Amino acid sequence: MDLKDHIREIPDFPKPGILFYDISTLLAHADAWQVTMGRMAKAARVYQPDVIAGVESRGFLVAAPLALKLGCGFIMVRKPGKLPGGTVTHTYQNEYREDTVEIQDNAVEPGQRVIVVDDLLATGGTMSASISLLRKVGADVCAAACIIELGFLKGRDAIDVPVHALMTYD
Ligand code: 5GP
Repeated sequence: MDLKDHIREIPDFPKPGILFYDISTLLAHADAWQVTMGRMAKAARVYQPDVIAGVESRGFLVAAPLALKLGCGFIMVRKPGKLPGGTVTHTYQNEYREDTVEIQDNAVEPGQRVIVVDDLLATGGTMSASISLLRKVGADVCAAACIIELGFLKGRDAIDVPVHALMTYD
């Protein structure tokens, strides 16, 4: 199955000149979503992770079912101010401004193997910041995974673990 058939390309979203790759149509199609998660699980299983980390918010939609499939725990990398209890943050510069990601300070046991998951890899800023944050709480980040990679932005060059993408746009 060509999963690209289930991605909707929406011009000028969220602002003029940006082509947005919408995964809603993939999520809404039962067979395509099953295939997506099956392929994700096949790629991820190789790393024998203990934990799958999802990046807010669409990354949650991919990471939570992946964790269930692999028998792993699921943890959340969130925008600041949303998580209760003790937290750790990491601030980074994205294309337009400074951004922060946050995680609960007890989210992983030191040395646990973690795969970080998002829906899409663009410049790699979000993914590399999430990896840095997970390392701050002691995670052994073993891979990064996404459904879509925008290859022309070379985001994977910013990431120092293996990156798995189910489809690439060049
Ligand atoms: P990066 O930090 O790699 O530049 O951007 C990736 C982040 O932006 C991801 O969290 C992703 O959800 C979001 N993102 C950027 N462009 C798109 C897009 O075209 N489609 C979707 N679904 N997410 C996008």
